[in-house]
Amino acid sequence: MTQTSNPTSCKVVSGLGNQATSKPVGLDILNLDDHAYDRALSCVHCGLCLPVCPTYTQNGLESDSPRGRIYMMKGLADGVVEPTDNVLKHLDLCLDCQACETICPSGVVYHELLEDTRAKLKPKRKFKFTDKLVQSIFLYGFTKPLRLKLLLLPVRIMQKIGLYKLVLKSGLTKALPNQFQKMQQMLPDDGPLWERGLQAYYPPTDNTVAGKPRARVAMFPGCVGSVMYQDVNRKTIEVLQHLGCEIIVPRKATCCGAIHHHAGEDKGARDFARQNIKAYLNVKDKPDFIVNNIAGCGAGLREFDHLLRDDAQYADQAVDFVSRVRDVCELIDELDPPTPSNRVAKTITYHHACHLLHAQRAGDPPLRLLKRVMGLKIVPLEEADFCCGAAGTYNLTQPEMAMDLAERKIRHIQESGASIVVMSNVGCAMQISSEAKRLGVSLTTEHPVEILHQAYLG
Ligand code: SF4
Ligand code: SF4
Repeated sequence: MTQTSNPTSCKVVSGLGNQATSKPVGLDILNLDDHAYDRALSCVHCGLCLPVCPTYTQNGLESDSPRGRIYMMKGLADGVVEPTDNVLKHLDLCLDCQACETICPSGVVYHELLEDTRAKLKPKRKFKFTDKLVQSIFLYGFTKPLRLKLLLLPVRIMQKIGLYKLVLKSGLTKALPNQFQKMQQMLPDDGPLWERGLQAYYPPTDNTVAGKPRARVAMFPGCVGSVMYQDVNRKTIEVLQHLGCEIIVPRKATCCGAIHHHAGEDKGARDFARQNIKAYLNVKDKPDFIVNNIAGCGAGLREFDHLLRDDAQYADQAVDFVSRVRDVCELIDELDPPTPSNRVAKTITYHHACHLLHAQRAGDPPLRLLKRVMGLKIVPLEEADFCCGAAGTYNLTQPEMAMDLAERKIRHIQESGASIVVMSNVGCAMQISSEAKRLGVSLTTEHPVEILHQAYLG
């Protein structure tokens, strides 16, 4: 499938090379952050990243590879490439999955370059009405749990009284714009009418040290997570309580800002970062750890130091905050937990969420923990570390590539022989479940914590 083709199909204004050693003054139409610009200079064009790039391996275009995109972004910054529709198309098609960073021998921090380029290009771009509407729903609806619950309420009522299935059968939803159809597809078939919030404090229930908690943990419930996957949040808390932790849930916790950051809305992302720092660190007993169970949120929380690096008041606190952030499996692994006593007789396969494996470099702990569960059979998954096409809101903005990648993922899951696929990200779970449903493939998604909950608590 992999093939190479000529470099970019973008409009080059003048010569473009890798000879520059600093940003050319006066040509920088994007005014990229100096650090981000330097990332482009450290690319030595070796091409090692090409075979791990989902978009390049899907369509074989150099301009849809990390190397091609870096070439274009440096050209844009230097003012020698114009932001034509074609150039923007190739940059938009990037998943920001960061697989290229994991393998890059030159240490190119690709995502900072891409995100800064996208943020700087955004004010110069025109978007279609439906794209703007979907983005507004995400930015202002999905990032606030109360608003998300209100948005979901009519659907939940229709599900409870059986009207929802009738609406789907009638084909009425086919009249919706594609992005809304996809949103509807991703909705779980059932759920509580109104999801309850979490308590402010949970004491340890077992495995304490001389009656004292082993760690003070602050839970990050997430916005979508606390509405659609609160069950996983509860299981996260119960497993941590069982392992000797006390858990606090700060009332003023807010969105991690990842949706804003990836949409090029850095001001909003920085506001969320400051609010979370206040909520989690300006407390009497600072938590030892800030735990989350959604890879996308975890990666967002770990960006706070980068986002606030120029903020005199918050820069140091952001570094402190990031040092305490853990994915739930990373934390459990760090606690050196006892072997779980219950058998979980299941055959599963494991999909690596990009935002855990590549963005947080914390891909090993979930598998290490799952391997200790008695009775659990883990079968290998081909291309387990390839993006499933979810990538934040990518499956809504780039539906064709997202569907191609999901089909590729689902084909590999089927080949593995398992009908349960485990992953640490709600976005991947929604993408894989909804696409499997569309393809008529029967499979179930689970979070590692759900397996650990069964293994420790039965
Ligand atoms: S692996 Fe790194 S240095 Fe090599 S082409 Fe890709 S981004 Fe550039
Ligand atoms: S972030 Fe992912 S999709 Fe984008 S260039 Fe890198 S590997 Fe390819």
